[in-house]
Amino acid sequence: MNSQDINENLQQLQQRIANACLKVNREVKEIRLIPVTKTKSVEMIQMAIALGVSHVGENKVQELIGKAEQLQDEKLEWILIGHLQSNKVKKIIQYIQEFHALDSIKLAEKLNKELQYIDKKLDVFIQVNTSNESSKYGIQPERLAGFLNEMQQFEQLNVVGLMTLALHTEDELQIRQCFRLLKKLLDKSRIDYPKISRLSMGMSGDFEIAIEEGATDIRVGQAIFGQRNLPDAYYWPEQGAKS
Ligand SMILES: *Cc1c(COP(=O)(O)O)cnc(C)c1O
Repeated sequence: MNSQDINENLQQLQQRIANACLKVNREVKEIRLIPVTKTKSVEMIQMAIALGVSHVGENKVQELIGKAEQLQDEKLEWILIGHLQSNKVKKIIQYIQEFHALDSIKLAEKLNKELQYIDKKLDVFIQVNTSNESSKYGIQPERLAGFLNEMQQFEQLNVVGLMTLALHTEDELQIRQCFRLLKKLLDKSRIDYPKISRLSMGMSGDFEIAIEEGATDIRVGQAIFGQRNLPDAYYWPEQGAKS
């Protein structure tokens, strides 16, 4: 992958995003593309920056910090999109602008406390398990209302949206149902919490369906930076075990 490949991929992606929007009468500017750079080199990220990329998503804490350190002179925002353990909160918070996988009150508590110390606020997405079996991460849909209620006590955390990973399957209908459920949960949540407005859903393999179902933030890696050498099982062990 060189800069020209990445550029072409980004342009193709923009076209596909535009087509998906057109299909359901949405505007392209409603969609934010989050380029996902996990397993990719800092050189590749620098190429992306040169092409206008201003924020990237990473799945793992250690990898994000390592790259952020190397790229600290660049103007780039880091978004943590993967699971976060409480014992890594303190390390990570200075590096990130957003966190897309909040799924426990204990973790929220820890985040809030550590953010207070450094006087920082963080935009968070609540990860919901919409696939009901394959992912051990994310809260169950029926727990969302109670979860959001509890989140109100954490002043450093702005809950801006919901996030999900669709079922790992070829079956488009099943994928669509995951996204549709998240949209339904968002619409319901907004009655009590009007500030919650975003839907982080859709990846290289399913972002068009996600856009059709209301995504505002799509997290796309391989369609921009090429295939990964590491299997997805490294990031979603429980799914890898099944497929
Ligand atoms: C890797 C990853 C993505 C992007 O997946 P691609 O197949 O590379 O588009 C999206 N979301 C999360 C949480 C990820 O870990």
